[in-house]
Amino acid sequence: PATPDAEALQHHDVAALLPRPSAESDKYRRGVVGVVAGSARYPGAAVLAVAGALRGGAGAVRYVGPAADAVIARFPETLVHSGPPHKAGRVQAWVVGPGLGDDPAARQSLDDVLASDVPLLVDADGLRLLPSGDLRSRGAATILTPHAGEAAALLGVAREEVERSRLAFVRALAEHYGATVLLKGSTTLVCSGPGSGPVRVNPTGTGWLATAGSGDVLSGLTGSLLATGLPAHDAASAGAYLHGLAARHATTPSGAPIAAYDVATALPEVWRDVL
Ligand code: AMP
Ligand code: MG
Repeated sequence: PATPDAEALQHHDVAALLPRPSAESDKYRRGVVGVVAGSARYPGAAVLAVAGALRGGAGAVRYVGPAADAVIARFPETLVHSGPPHKAGRVQAWVVGPGLGDDPAARQSLDDVLASDVPLLVDADGLRLLPSGDLRSRGAATILTPHAGEAAALLGVAREEVERSRLAFVRALAEHYGATVLLKGSTTLVCSGPGSGPVRVNPTGTGWLATAGSGDVLSGLTGSLLATGLPAHDAASAGAYLHGLAARHATTPSGAPIAAYDVATALPEVWRDVL
C-alpha cells in the first residue's frame, strides 16, 4: 500500500517513545538540556523555556544568557552561566531563540550553538537570525519550530501562502534545511524531510494555546526530550503532543483561558497519564 502523506500522532505511539528513568539513571545520564534564551527586553521567555525544559525528562537544565536572575528566582534548580554557550559545560541538546533578541550577542550565541556537535532546537528569534544554508553539515540533528509567520519569513513567501499549504511548506522547509521542522498552528505538523515517512499531525492542540509565551514552553519541553536521547523526529512529535495535552489539562474542567506558565505546570500530570 502507498505511504500516506500525513498521519495523526497516536497516544500509544507517543507513550512508547517517552523516556523512563531506571535504577541506573543519574542526572547526567538522563540528559542535560541547555537553554539559550531571553534578553533584557524579554526575560520572561527564558523563564518559560526553562519551565518547559524542567518538565521534559532531562536530568538537568542549564540556562545561558542575560536573564539568569529571573530564571533562578523562579527555578533554583537551574544551572546558570553567563559566558558563551560552549563554555557552559556539557549539554546533550541545546534550545536557542525564545526572546533572544537580534543584537550581536544574540547572533554570537546562535553561531556558538550551531557550531556545537549536539542536537539543537531553534525557535523564535533564533529562526530570524538563522543563516540561510543547509544544516546537514552540523554534526547532529536540528529541529526548527516556526509558526506560519516564521516559516514564511524563512522561505521568503507570504504568511497566507504558508497557511494555505501547510503540508507542502513543512516539507519544503525540512528539505531545504535538512532539519526536522515542527510547524506550529491549530494542527501542528512535524516533518524530517524526504524519506522520513509521513508528516506527523498533532491532534492535541487547543485554541487556548494561542497565547503569548506558549511557544517558549514548547521549545524548552522539546529540547529536553531531545536531551534525553530521543531522535529529533520523535522529540518534536512527543513535544507537540504533550504540550497540547498539557494545555487541555490546564483548561479542564473550567474550560477557561490559560497563561503559558499554566501549560508548563500541567506537564507532570500529563506525563502521568501517558507513561
Ligand atoms: P508561538 O506562536 O511561538 O507563541 O507558539 C504558539 C503555540 O500555540 C504553538 O504550540 C501552536 O501550535 C499553538 N497554537 C497557536 N494557535 C493555536 C490554535 N488555534 N489551536 C491550537 N494550537 C494553537
Ligand atoms: Mg514563538
